[in-house]
Amino acid sequence: MELRTSPADTPAPRTSAPLLDVEHARVGYELDGRLQVAVEDVSFAIHPGEHVMLLGPSGCGKSTLLKTIAGFIEPAGGSIRLNGRTDLSPGPDRAVVFQEFDQLFPWFPVERNLTYPLRVNGRSKADAARIAAEYLDLMGLSHAADRYPHQLSGGMKQRVAIARAMALEPVLLLMDEPFGALDAQTRSRLQRELHEVARSAEATILFVTHSIQEAVYIGHRVVVLGTPPSTVVEILDVAHLSDPAAPEFTDAMRHLRSLLSADDSTAESATFE
Ligand code: ADP
Ligand code: MG
Repeated sequence: MELRTSPADTPAPRTSAPLLDVEHARVGYELDGRLQVAVEDVSFAIHPGEHVMLLGPSGCGKSTLLKTIAGFIEPAGGSIRLNGRTDLSPGPDRAVVFQEFDQLFPWFPVERNLTYPLRVNGRSKADAARIAAEYLDLMGLSHAADRYPHQLSGGMKQRVAIARAMALEPVLLLMDEPFGALDAQTRSRLQRELHEVARSAEATILFVTHSIQEAVYIGHRVVVLGTPPSTVVEILDVAHLSDPAAPEFTDAMRHLRSLLSADDSTAESATFE
């Protein structure tokens, strides 16, 4: 991941081949020998440098899809290609950040939480230390390098998890509601930080959320999923929208809200901010 001095507001032009190509993916879970379908038919692509948001109601299969792309679940149908490859066994080319605060190694200080996976993935001790320092600095964590996870707030733990994932320089960064368990104020601060960092680092990101505001703010494109078993309701381009005060930003939020409530046939669906 090349760090650039001037932040790019738009992803790389889409003339390049997609990095990730999801075509008619169908995913489910075996229960009593039968496939319970969670994701019925989902297609979308991610190009290098794009931040694609998966937005949809609770239970619609967002995490299922993300775990399938991470290689933890085999799709039951369709195809998922990463750089043209369909063998998606889990690997450091797809680092994952989860919502839970307990994803760090509790027995390692912050710095070692970053260097350990780098060492496991073949980096020399000197390289791992240099890369860890770079990403801790990027996420504003240098002062906390020696602290243990239990000494950090929820927001700081999530920043460490993001720094650790980015330090692996994955071809695709997978994030599953990483700010979902944070208070509103910390959440908007981390959204701003990620927005800046991800654009300057040219990271390619698939980000799961059920927050409309988060989807429009962080994303270049929003893939809207319907109620389960899910299909794609719409794919909306929001690359030009990064000012929440702009009328176009509010319009995009209103449009997404209408798509989600139009599809809200199950009373159990989440509320959307
Ligand atoms: P989301 O992340 O959009 O809230 P999930 O992908 O977690 O939704 O879940 C989609 C559906 O798959 C839900 O009906 C859920 O109950 C089901 N599901 C999720 N994980 C499992 C599992 N490990 N085994 C069986 N069913 C599951
Ligand atoms: Mg989920």
